[in-house]
Amino acid sequence: MRRRHAALVALLVALAMPATFARGGQAPVSAAPAPSPRNANYSIDVDLDPASRTITGRAVVTWRNLTSKPASELRFHTYWNAWRDTTSTWMREWIRGAGPDTSELTRRPKSEWASMDVTAIRLLAGGTTAMADLLGGAHYIAPDDGNAEDRTVLAVPLPKSVGPGETIAVEVSWIAHVPRTFARTGVVGNSFFLAQWFPKLGVLEDGGWNTHQFHASTEFFSDYGVYDVRMTVPRGWVVGATGVERSRTDTPTGKTVHQYVQEDVHDFAWTTSPDYIVKTERFEHKRLQAVEMRLLIQPEHASQADRYFMATRATLRSYGEWYGPYPYVHITIVDPAFQTEAGGMEYPTLFTGGTNWLAPLTVTDPEDVTVHECGHQFWYGLVGNNEFEHAWIDEGLNTFSTARVIEETFSPNFYERRFFGGVVPWVFHDIAMSREIAGDRMAGYRTAARSDAQQTPSWRYASGTGGAITYNKTALWLHTLERYLGWRRLQRGMSLFFARSTFKHPTPEDFFSAINEGAGRDLSWYFDQVYRSSNAFDYALGTLTTEKRGDAYHTEVMVQRRGEALFPVDVQVIFDDGSRVREHWDGRERWKLYTWDRSAAAVSAEVDPDNVLLLDIDRTNNSRTLTPQTNKAARQWTARWFLWLQDLVQTYAFFV
Ligand SMILES: [Zn+2]
Repeated sequence: MRRRHAALVALLVALAMPATFARGGQAPVSAAPAPSPRNANYSIDVDLDPASRTITGRAVVTWRNLTSKPASELRFHTYWNAWRDTTSTWMREWIRGAGPDTSELTRRPKSEWASMDVTAIRLLAGGTTAMADLLGGAHYIAPDDGNAEDRTVLAVPLPKSVGPGETIAVEVSWIAHVPRTFARTGVVGNSFFLAQWFPKLGVLEDGGWNTHQFHASTEFFSDYGVYDVRMTVPRGWVVGATGVERSRTDTPTGKTVHQYVQEDVHDFAWTTSPDYIVKTERFEHKRLQAVEMRLLIQPEHASQADRYFMATRATLRSYGEWYGPYPYVHITIVDPAFQTEAGGMEYPTLFTGGTNWLAPLTVTDPEDVTVHECGHQFWYGLVGNNEFEHAWIDEGLNTFSTARVIEETFSPNFYERRFFGGVVPWVFHDIAMSREIAGDRMAGYRTAARSDAQQTPSWRYASGTGGAITYNKTALWLHTLERYLGWRRLQRGMSLFFARSTFKHPTPEDFFSAINEGAGRDLSWYFDQVYRSSNAFDYALGTLTTEKRGDAYHTEVMVQRRGEALFPVDVQVIFDDGSRVREHWDGRERWKLYTWDRSAAAVSAEVDPDNVLLLDIDRTNNSRTLTPQTNKAARQWTARWFLWLQDLVQTYAFFV
């Protein structure tokens, strides 16, 4: 998923940051991974009635118990019930995060809400014969908060336990009402985007079912399997879905059945509309498997098809080279319709981008969202971490990686503001976007740096601050590690993690041990701080004095650790003869004094002069200078802003 970032004020700081860190470094491209466990398999027939906005589905779910304990029940997510009314846990959390402004929700007519009603559950013998009805014993549970109104987890007791290694098949039928879009899922006009649209099994672990309720701030978790899905839609409508189309059959009632199949995925999403334009291109690479790219684009955005393809190519290439290969032979890119709010979301082998009618070439829109969501094919799709509990693994690694791709492939790019309801863009060509500020979302992190320890389960993060810890903090601590270790070491660790975790459900500990191994050193001291605590880093230049003593100048610098967290930093002093000295401080004490007697007077001093520690929550206190600064910089900025204001007024005059 994509979350917006970066306040302008933080971008201005970008101009002061050097971008001197090396690029490059490629992982040895390994062979395609072994197949996934394929223990949660779905064969589904679903019929969409656009007029009543109803889907009617029947699934045969074949599930194998991978744990060492018997399972006495199944648990299904029925996510759409989160948008049934305002009593669900998702809605309560959403309203809490939105504050008093919930008018957009309360104005919705009943027809724009959702529902998902399971109408039959039968245990199958031999995969096809109905053996026992299970619906009678099925009941909704609320394992996270006990909310009796929540209907997003359905527990289904079984007449006989499923032992370790054993397989059962159940048939599940349901009817669901498609809402006006909630959380990128729903319909506007004739554009349907259908995600989380079927009752989906949770993940059984040795400790029991891991099946959280649907929460406003977190996403999903499910096992890998084979999906064989037959979607019935009006004839002539375009369908995009996880997987590849295997067959297309017209029905006597004027509809068409589209069959899509995909192995080794943990979810399935689809979209249909009569309005999409379909374009295809191919990704090719000398060491990576070719991928067919299929783009479903809105007619008014057709001229931007190349930008979607180019960003998708850049992602498949960079992530493939850095982390490991994309094992599927196709990918579907969906450009959602205006106001459907379905953009910026990932599903296996399919993702949604998003763009505007006017999209300046020097601004990375739609490239940012395309790279991010395509990147989730790796961090989320192939590496299937638990997004309820450790959302930072996919979102954080992916935010970090997105920024890296944008810097390598789409620089320079510039800050943009939009006017007239977002329709008219204005590009600030004197404000270049930088990876460490904008891409890592520094401003967002600093406002909520201490809001939660990252190890807190993601769904429990304080309302409205989860994004800062999940996306921004992780991107910053990974980028800090890159600057501290060098990209090759970090990349070795990340590609090791990717190879070990493909088609699996890795834990944070799996990630830390892979990074330690790749780096060739124990970084527990770092992970303890950035992951297990909410401590913040803040190093500061306390005092700087220089005075003549005899023939020499005596210079004193006092540096401080104002945050709780520890990190080794350099301290640099520049003298008026152009010379400079550097000291390395382990950063452990609360402060440290350095003194020099030299022939030159000190001019300025700085702690962490290379900006290694991107997590430092206040860089304005990192340096001091003894030469009175003219107000040159301020004058330059004032001139630029006046010029901008003048341009803006002229623009308004043009449109009025
Ligand atoms: Zn994301």
